[in-house]
Amino acid sequence: MPRLIIRSSDIHAAGCFTLENIPKNARVLEYTGERITKAEGDIRYEGRPFTYLFGVGDGEVVIDGHGMAMFVNHSCDPNCETDEEDDRVYIAAIRDITAGEELTYDYYLYDGDDEAPCYCGSKGCRGSMYSPEELKKKARAAARKKKQAELAAKNNGAGRKVKGTDRAK
Ligand SMILES: [Zn+2]
Repeated sequence: MPRLIIRSSDIHAAGCFTLENIPKNARVLEYTGERITKAEGDIRYEGRPFTYLFGVGDGEVVIDGHGMAMFVNHSCDPNCETDEEDDRVYIAAIRDITAGEELTYDYYLYDGDDEAPCYCGSKGCRGSMYSPEELKKKARAAARKKKQAELAAKNNGAGRKVKGTDRAK
């Protein structure tokens, strides 16, 4: 595995940079950390704006990132990707990477309730770290909510005051 260094990043706070050239397809590092259930992860990170959770397999187990890999930032135009083998997650180069470059991969976030804006600055930036599928899901949910609100407003408006007798008498 190549020598890596953590230092301040233009993308977000700190990032992981390589001190050596990395050839395409080479494994760069492993996403290490404690294995916990998704439910336990939700409790640990309740109310926090970010997590270091990485879903493994069907997503019921997550890795609570601890180590260098948790510093690898998201990019919509990354130079790495994650690949899973026997419930272990590795970060591998998807192109030749030059010494000094910051390592990035696409987080493809899912399941979160809060915003996850992306500032990667790449040309194809989708403005969010959520996966394209998750963004579609969220857009559908938002449209549904809007429609329900419109419907509720309409129904309220349709209700007319009705005269009645004073039953307290
Ligand atoms: Zn982006």
